[in-house]
Amino acid sequence: MDFSFSDEQRAFQKSILDFAKKELQESTAPPRTTRERDKASTFFEDGFKRAADFGLLGLPIPEQYGGLGRDVIDCTLAMQALGQGCPDSGLGFTISSHVFTCEIPILLFGSEAQKSALLPAMVRGELIGCHAMSEPEAGSDAFSLQTTAEKKGDRYILNGSKTFISNAPIANLFLIFATVNKKKGWAGVTGFLVDRNTPGLTVSAALDKLGLKTSPTGELHLEDLEVPESAILGRVGQGSAIFNAEMEWERSCLFALHLGTMQRQLDATIQYAKDRKQFGQSIGSFQAVSHKIADMRLRIELSEMMLYKVAWMKARGLRAPLESAMSKLYVSESFVANSLDAVQLRGGYGFMSEYEVERDLRDSIGSRIYSGTNEIQRNIIASLLGL
Ligand SMILES: Cc1cc2nc3c(=O)[nH]c(=O)nc-3n(C[C@H](O)[C@H](O)[C@H](O)COP(=O)(O)OP(=O)(O)OC[C@H]3O[C@@H](n4cnc5c(N)ncnc54)[C@H](O)[C@@H]3O)c2cc1C
Repeated sequence: MDFSFSDEQRAFQKSILDFAKKELQESTAPPRTTRERDKASTFFEDGFKRAADFGLLGLPIPEQYGGLGRDVIDCTLAMQALGQGCPDSGLGFTISSHVFTCEIPILLFGSEAQKSALLPAMVRGELIGCHAMSEPEAGSDAFSLQTTAEKKGDRYILNGSKTFISNAPIANLFLIFATVNKKKGWAGVTGFLVDRNTPGLTVSAALDKLGLKTSPTGELHLEDLEVPESAILGRVGQGSAIFNAEMEWERSCLFALHLGTMQRQLDATIQYAKDRKQFGQSIGSFQAVSHKIADMRLRIELSEMMLYKVAWMKARGLRAPLESAMSKLYVSESFVANSLDAVQLRGGYGFMSEYEVERDLRDSIGSRIYSGTNEIQRNIIASLLGL
């Protein structure tokens, strides 16, 4: 077994960590800091632009469309570095949604005309993408969606509603899933690429939420929204294949972002345990404290191995449904557990916003819900075990 990365891969990862530590901290205009943006629920717009200029928005996109052409292993390393270096998890989440749930489907299923029209602008950050599957009545049971796409001549008319859509309030490109025939179930689900200015598309303001407050989330309402056949991504009925393919990418790369955040938390927590004195000694010298930190490290180690294994399998063209379900489940539970420990180990300071760990805790909780809830991951694991 070989767990090593090449010097080039390590240098690539370090360049992203250095970039994130330098350029993805403060915005030029208020609210400047991550804490202030979190409080005001404000997107880090210039951070997004800097990430585009650095090339992060084109990580897996081939050079012919302006991207870096990196494989899934390098994307995993890159997202890990982004999470470690950038304290604004909402920015990382927005980047991940843009790249892995909108660019990747276009790259994998788009026509040459769609790819060359959309991908270069997305890589430059001029187009912001989002992915609209969830509906008020169709969440975990995603393919029971009610949004319809009715064929009229060479056009499709879309009607329905979408909710919890990451990036929607700031997006100008919407990958919307609708059914061409409800009776067909998953086989009728079809993806459509829709411009924000299309008549019939209404996008809500950002929804107020528990965490990831700097990543705007919204609702869509589609009323007789008319698109040409050329807006279909892939083929009619290919929506479920698109969704499954992008979920595997997201379950590797988005969760690598969370792994990076856990590493940042651990470094800061070790330092805190050394510096903070009670009963005349560093709190890190109390076994109850040091064991919690050892457990945090252990969860990071296992998360990393699971994520790297999924990336390694995918880079070799192997399907990894069991491994990516287990990895999504374990990394997200670890993220929540480590964030809770990071708060607990700071005592009252951990509970106060000024010390920044309570934000990581709020940001971590959504990871158990999006990309398929952890209950659904357990269902997938069980069904792949023949249950
Ligand atoms: C921060 C955030 C960002 C998101 N971004 C997007 C996005 O960009 N695009 C998008 O389309 N969606 C997005 N979502 C939506 C997300 O995919 C759904 O919230 C998720 O799939 C769960 O659906 P639901 O919320 O309707 O919950 P439900 O499906 O109603 O589930 C409620 C509870 O019941 C459990 N449950 C349901 N069915 C089963 C079952 N069969 N077995 C066991 N337990 C079950 C669930 O695990 C959960 O605990 C986002 C969600 C969040 C929180």
